[in-house]
Amino acid sequence: MLGWIAGAICSGLIAWLAYRRRSLSASGVAAAVVVGTALVGLGSTAWFGTLLAFFVSSTALSVWKKHRRAEAESGYAKSGRRDAGQVAANGGAAVLLCAAHALGPHPLWWAAFVGALAAANADTWATELGGLSARPPRSVLSGRQVAPGTSGGVTAAGTAAAACGGLFVGVAAWALLALWPQQLGASVAAEAPASLAALALLGLAGGLCGAFADSLLGAWRQRMQRCRVCGREVEAARHCGEPTDYARGWRWLGNDAVNALATLIGAGTAALLALAL
Ligand SMILES: [Zn+2]
Repeated sequence: MLGWIAGAICSGLIAWLAYRRRSLSASGVAAAVVVGTALVGLGSTAWFGTLLAFFVSSTALSVWKKHRRAEAESGYAKSGRRDAGQVAANGGAAVLLCAAHALGPHPLWWAAFVGALAAANADTWATELGGLSARPPRSVLSGRQVAPGTSGGVTAAGTAAAACGGLFVGVAAWALLALWPQQLGASVAAEAPASLAALALLGLAGGLCGAFADSLLGAWRQRMQRCRVCGREVEAARHCGEPTDYARGWRWLGNDAVNALATLIGAGTAALLALAL
């Protein structure tokens, strides 16, 4: 019980700071508190800390990049503050995997958890830093040049940033587990991936595969809208002050669904890799 209360206080504090820095909306704060509290209550420091490695590093990058991306972002489904949908898309799989571990401890839950957050971090870092590329992005499907910020557009800088973002989560997970080795449970700790090399590899692979899946799904079947005013293809439900019309893609596959699927693919990749290690 104490863990749940401590988790609620810690994540409430961090979410409130993020709200003050305009990184989370009100619904995003509520969702972040649920995600953070669940990870502390069900998992504890190593699980919650790995979430923080994702949340703090990606939020810091977003704040740092904010002034540079105003133009590209006008076509994004969501800009600036993360809402509940985005928090759930990035952290939902992590909570489910942590809950699965609490119900039936197994080393693979931990590996998949690291992969899911690595994918979320890789995608965020790639989005924030991909625009630093001197060359315009190219569609991962067609190879054609696309406008910066377009779903499914990839750059060399973005891919490098995705690799670093995944690696960062893997290394953070290793450090947290090294500090609190008892946190996976005695029966699991001996078999779970815990070395620096193993967790770095899980983070790297989960991050790269997740970010690649995100780009692929974004370019292939993500729901796109068309602006009634300027005619641009956008993700957002409103553009140029008017509601947008459906243009193409699977209607259920919005930006949040793409992100959620990418974290699942990152989780699956890391779990498969952990089996092979
Ligand atoms: Zn428009």
